[in-house]
Order: sequence, then C-alpha cells, then structure tokens
Amino acid sequence: MVNSCIFCKIVAGEIPAKIAYQDDLLIAFHDVHPQAPHHLLLVPRKHIATTLDLDASDAPMLARVFSAAAQLSRELGFAEEGFRLVNNCNRRGGQVVWHLHFHLLGGRDMTWPPG
Ligand code: AMP
Repeated sequence: MVNSCIFCKIVAGEIPAKIAYQDDLLIAFHDVHPQAPHHLLLVPRKHIATTLDLDASDAPMLARVFSAAAQLSRELGFAEEGFRLVNNCNRRGGQVVWHLHFHLLGGRDMTWPPG
C-alpha cells in the first residue's frame, strides 16, 4: 500500500467507495464523476502506478480485469448493447490517479476517436 494513494486507501477500506465487485486481485467501484450512465473503475489491489509498470507476473490480474468487466456488464445490463473498457496512461493519456485502473463505461453510445 502507498499511503498517499487514494485508490490504495479504497482497497484498504480507509475511504468509502461504492464497490460493485471484488476478488483476491481486483476491486471495482463506481466512479465519483461518472462519464456515462454506468462508469466503474477496475483497480488491482496491488499498487501499480501505470501501465508501464506492469510485468509478466501481473498477467493473472489483467486477465481478471476482462472477466470482471464482462461479469459486471452482464450484471448491470449493458453487455449486449456494448461498452468501453479503457486505461489512461500518463499525462497525455489523461491519467490523473497514479494507481493503475481501467474504466468500464456503458449505457450510452461511445464516440470514436475519443477526445
Ligand atoms: P484517470 O483520469 O484515468 O486517472 O481516472 C481517474 C478516475 O478516478 C476519474 O474518473 C475520477 O473521477 C475517479 N476518482 C477519483 N477519486 C475517486 C474516488 N474517491 N472514488 C471513485 N472514483 C474516483
């Protein structure tokens, strides 16, 4: 755990979040500033700052991101109509929280290219 990291604090239960899914590797909670009718963040329990800090040992966690996203999208009812699963990396990617996370967005039409 990194003491200054807000997502580490959510993982540790030190600050509240609306948790939608959790297992031994991941938690998923609703984004406080949703950009779609459904907007969840899938977050590894382990502190990993960015996509660039992943290594081969993280492969099971990354596989879990996709299975958890599929499960959540079905449970929340937007699997078949479609959704977006994205990661922002570093400043130009739009990253503002330096604990790896994946945005799961659903419930509206997504645009391409993204802004
Ligand atoms: P990113 O720009 O990819 O780093 O996304 C960070 C996301 O974390 C943003 O969508 C924020 O709205 C969200 N966020 C920041 N703090 C919290 C929090 N305490 N609970 C839930 N979502 C948060």
